[in-house]
Formats: sequence, C-alpha cells, structure tokens
Amino acid sequence: MTQTNTDGDELARCDRRSDSGPFDIIGDVHGCAGELEALLARLGYHVRWTGTPSAAEVTVVPPRGRRAVFVGDLVDRGPRVPDTLRIVMSMVEAGTAYAVPGNHDVKFQRWLDGKDVKPSHGLDRTIAQFEPEPKAFRIAVRKFLKDLPIYVWLDGGGLAVAHAGIKEDMLGRISGEIRRFCLYGETSGETDKFGLPIRYHWAVEYRGHTSVVYGHTPVPDADWVNNTLCIDTGCCFGGKLTALRWPEREIVSVPAADIYTMPVRPFGHPPPRPGVTA
Ligand code: MN
Repeated sequence: MTQTNTDGDELARCDRRSDSGPFDIIGDVHGCAGELEALLARLGYHVRWTGTPSAAEVTVVPPRGRRAVFVGDLVDRGPRVPDTLRIVMSMVEAGTAYAVPGNHDVKFQRWLDGKDVKPSHGLDRTIAQFEPEPKAFRIAVRKFLKDLPIYVWLDGGGLAVAHAGIKEDMLGRISGEIRRFCLYGETSGETDKFGLPIRYHWAVEYRGHTSVVYGHTPVPDADWVNNTLCIDTGCCFGGKLTALRWPEREIVSVPAADIYTMPVRPFGHPPPRPGVTA
C-alpha cells in the first residue's frame, strides 16, 4: 500500500502534461559545470555565483517563461560534479528546471546511502570531489536525487524526457520495468568486449506520437530517429554539451573545453534488437 502511494506521488511528478513550456532540454552533463554555464548563457540564462568556495550558492535566471529539463547523468567523469549539482538543484528548487535521474546519479545515490557500490565509470571522481563538501550538502544531494521523477511527460503529452528513453505505452505509468528502461534503455543482459552492457537501439522501433528526448548513449551529433532525439553528445569525453529548444526544435551545443575521460567504446547508437532492421 505504501509502495502504491509512493508510486502515485511520483506519477504526479512525472505527469507534467499541463506544462507547455517552452523548454530547453539539456543532455548528460557528467560534472562538466563550465560547459553547462556556457550552454546556459548561450540559451539566455543568467548564472550568478555568490558566497565562498566552501559555501557557494548559485542563482540561475532563465529567459522569460522558459524552463530547463535535464536528462540526467549529472555526476561522474567530469571536473565539477558538486557545482553541477548546485546549479541543477537550485533551478529545480526555484521551479525553473525539471530533472530526471540517470544511471550514474542512481549509483551515486546508492553510494550516499552507504550501499556497497563499485566506484567505477567515473564514480571515484565524484566521491573524491565530495570529500571536502559539508555534510549538509551531501544530505541535500541525497534528498534531491531520491525525489527525482523517473521521467517527465510535458506539453500536452507531446514531449517526454527520460534518461535512456521511454516507450510511448509506458507514459502515465510507473513500474520496475519502466524504471529500468528509463535508466538503462533496452539491454540484452550481457556485456560486450569492453565489459559494458550490450545495448539495443530501441528508437528504430519507436512509432509514437510523443517526441522522446533522451541521453545515455554518447553520439557524435544529435539527430532525430523517428520521433526521438538523443542529446548526449559526450561532453565529458571531449565532445560537446547539447540542448534542444522546444517547441522550436533548435539544437544548441557548446564544445567541451577538454577531454575529461577517455571513452572506452566509440560514440554512436548501438545496433537494433536482433531481427529488427534500422
Ligand atoms: Mn551518461
């Protein structure tokens, strides 16, 4: 019963169809706060830091009426994970942004919960960067991550944002399977020669009317596939940080200032499920 009520509360935070935007949807930041500041500036947001480095606070003022939507994977791999969280948390709190969790955020949340997680794929950098942070900030981050809706459904139902994507028949519902899809996409349950989970390109089978914007899989450029758009352009790997302006459907990117992490496999969409032709 408690579980059902919790899901109901979360569903209310997922279903934002009454919010028609306009929106600026932002891809996987992975601690690249400098590039995030540059992208927000390009999109017309004013970012202002106050306080001392150990007690930094940030205020972000959006262009009139606009809201940002973060596709998740705020943490790991990049140089300024706490600052990235400060920016996004302050915007969500001010009602000027939505955010959904990525698989990296969920893993970091498990670490904050004291669970035994392997500090791989850049989590070690997040942990190191949190070493000097005050306990109150960790507690705030933990609560922020715990409260994120697994996807957001926006603009009269015409737009959905989930970290790894979502199928149209999952919208308006929550289940373990839907959570897994939103965080990890379609996987085979096996690992590839790089030791990473084998993924399938679910979007080639997408036939929905709702436009789905997602991240998770670094691609060289954001390109529409059916009615879906992956905007993870691998900023932490020296690519770029990308946003989609909605409803304008304009893509805005800023280049990475550095290669913060070497990619273990080349950029690009995985193949479709066996038997499916792209
Ligand atoms: Mn990612």
